[in-house]
Amino acid sequence: MSSSIDVRLRDLAGTAPETAVRGDAAECGEVLGRGDGSEISADDFKFEISNLKLNPRQPAGERTFYLETFGCQMNDHDSEKVAGVLLGRGYQRMESADAAKLILYNTCSIREKAAQKVFSRLGTFRKTPDHGKIIGVLGCVAQQEGEEIFERAPWVSLVCGSASYSKLPELITEIEEGNRRVMGLDKDTDATFETEFTRRDNPYRAYLTIIEGCDKACSYCVVPFTRGPERSRASASVLEEVRRLVDAGYTEVQLLGQTVNSYADPSPRKMTFAGLLVAVAGVPGIRRVRFMTSHPRDFGRDIVDAMDAAPAICNHVHLPVQSGSTRILREMRRTYTREEYLEKIEMIRSARRPICITSDIIVGFPGETEADLAETISLLDAAQYDGIFAFQYSPRPNTDARHMPDVISEAEKGRRLAVVLERQREIQVRKHEALVGETFEVLVDGGSRKPGQWSGRSSGNRIVNFYSPRTDLLGQYVQVRVLRAVPNSLVGEHVI
Ligand code: SAM
Ligand code: SF4
Repeated sequence: MSSSIDVRLRDLAGTAPETAVRGDAAECGEVLGRGDGSEISADDFKFEISNLKLNPRQPAGERTFYLETFGCQMNDHDSEKVAGVLLGRGYQRMESADAAKLILYNTCSIREKAAQKVFSRLGTFRKTPDHGKIIGVLGCVAQQEGEEIFERAPWVSLVCGSASYSKLPELITEIEEGNRRVMGLDKDTDATFETEFTRRDNPYRAYLTIIEGCDKACSYCVVPFTRGPERSRASASVLEEVRRLVDAGYTEVQLLGQTVNSYADPSPRKMTFAGLLVAVAGVPGIRRVRFMTSHPRDFGRDIVDAMDAAPAICNHVHLPVQSGSTRILREMRRTYTREEYLEKIEMIRSARRPICITSDIIVGFPGETEADLAETISLLDAAQYDGIFAFQYSPRPNTDARHMPDVISEAEKGRRLAVVLERQREIQVRKHEALVGETFEVLVDGGSRKPGQWSGRSSGNRIVNFYSPRTDLLGQYVQVRVLRAVPNSLVGEHVI
């Protein structure tokens, strides 16, 4: 089936005339030309399509999809690739499940509550068995629950786990051919999920997976089970994508991986993670390079040296500690002690420029005592984080911690969480107040509902809201002087 499409190519730099082209969905790589008559290569066209829609004069066909994403940035980025696969096949993205024929949920199972969400979404179709939709469950819940999803929700047609995304195009073909029970649940794959083009949702920051899966074995975590073993992408392929992102108008990229700094270049070049950071920062046109999430064990001096050498590498490291107690860290199998972790913090603080450090904390791990909690609180004081994500421990299937004794009640976990968050709030207030009067470079990524108000991120990833008389700041780098501090953001004025 082929359908006529209107395509509007995004011009992030704001320099080219509007680029509207018309073509055929089945041939969208064959291309076409810009609205001003200039030529555009087939590769550019396939790579970045910001708005692909069926010609409104044609009836909306079967090829419509709705995609909802739960969970982390890696899931968000996987969804950008899934959307790219579907748009490339001539599908139109719809704003609501009601309007779409194919409904996909990209799921998260890191904590019980996240996993439950998808079953509550699926439950909405229980009462309408003749809804005429094709429903698919993707991601970590799909990998975890597998075939059982068909048992619990027989109206589901597609189950594809996060370790099997490279099979997604084949699975979609099977669905298009009318097969109503299609599954992709391989875990022994060494393939990474690379797509012909990716439909990026964020016009200012481009996410880029450089390593998939995880070979660590934290006793509480489902990721090694749901995302499979570590697979790194060849450095040349990463750098090629960064160059293409620059061509598409991006100046900021974020390298993603569950343990991004465990990156191991599979190509003969054998580039280290630090080497890759420097190489990405050196791509002409790149102004900011971020990376997330770093595992403390694999965080070496060479990464700090890379940050010193290449100012385009952002002043931010997300280095989850999970607990301040060495005893609990051992039970969690985090492979470092409190002291070793704090040495890494010292090392990062010794960089030539101030680096923002953020972390993840789990409270209420089985057997966690008041003394362990006190160690976590004292670690917050010692590390002086710029931000944390704190979670109540949630027992997960296929993890060893699930069978550990001395379970903490939910109410007590809630109390401990509040204690941790309150101490961190006090730290952030103090740290932010010390920044009043300083000036930061901010990449503007949003306007406020009130005229004259803008928001963006500093290199350290702080949220900065600011006032400016200018009306054209989206996507621009501007200097902002901090006037006021609140716990989770800074408020400032545009220095013109
Ligand atoms: N790979 C990263 C690392 O090692 O720090 C984190 C990946 S995980 C998607 C994000 C965070 O979820 C973890 O750092 C941890 O704090 C939290 N998390 C993972 N499993 C959890 C569980 N069973 N209960 C509560 N929080 C959990
Ligand atoms: Fe999960 Fe640990 Fe791997 Fe992070 S390092 S994804 S917490 S197993």
